[in-house]
Amino acid sequence: MKKIVFHVFVLILALFVLCGCENTVPPELPWEYNLEEHWKTDENGEKIDFSEHQLDSNLVCSVCNSRIFKWDDGGSTIHKYDENGNTVSSKTYRNGEVISESEYAIGSNGNSFPVRSVFFNDNGEKIDLKSNEFDQVVEGVCYSADGEILYEEYFEYTFSEDGTYYLSFEKYCDHKEIRIFENTYNESGDWLSYTVYRLDTGSLISEEFYEYEYDSEGRKIYKKALKNGELVEEFFYDFYEDGENIQTYCSKYIHYIRDQHVNGHYTVTEYDKYGNILSESSYDSLGNKIS
Ligand SMILES: [Zn+2]
Repeated sequence: MKKIVFHVFVLILALFVLCGCENTVPPELPWEYNLEEHWKTDENGEKIDFSEHQLDSNLVCSVCNSRIFKWDDGGSTIHKYDENGNTVSSKTYRNGEVISESEYAIGSNGNSFPVRSVFFNDNGEKIDLKSNEFDQVVEGVCYSADGEILYEEYFEYTFSEDGTYYLSFEKYCDHKEIRIFENTYNESGDWLSYTVYRLDTGSLISEEFYEYEYDSEGRKIYKKALKNGELVEEFFYDFYEDGENIQTYCSKYIHYIRDQHVNGHYTVTEYDKYGNILSESSYDSLGNKIS
């Protein structure tokens, strides 16, 4: 009798364990897809639940909830949505080849936006872009067909007083020329600095700084450029009415020569509003007119 009870106990235990196994729901695997089919990939890397999309009249798959958009140029884009209808990812095809892929994230306004996009071109090059929720690119890397980095770009944006973001910093790493170019900008979109470094050693090659003066209406009236700490250029701006628009033009330009023999010599060129030279004079570093 004891033995039977024991066997029953083992049987119940076995059933309990089996039922328990059945009740343990594995984490839902995401649908993967191309233009024709969908599938999931299990933990062994095997494709499972593989089948063709079951498209309704709106070209939405009833199984994986992807939607296909057809373009006039023969290309198509397939979007995958989450249960709330937000785009999770997309792939664009032309002539059967993937030309771009995007991953989306949910922004602070609750809408999905492409956080990362990869573009493939005919040369086998790949451009990998990361964006912020305002659809501004923050990072871009271009790879050759061999997977080597050709160039990298980084962008930073600053919140301005008028409530928008403006591009304030830009860095371009040229792996072919082994150079880093860094630019900074002010709120008006005017260049504040331009710096060149070596990409391999990080050593500074040159740096230029720009300063501006604006009138009370925010119009640029003056710019000066300093290269490696020395004044090299000055620009004076003037305005003229063109119908309803006010046009800005450079009315005077001063170029300073930075050369050991004639250091500080400068030329002054004056222009009319059409860009015609009105006068051109040269001076020595003490301001004596040479010609
Ligand atoms: Zn599908």
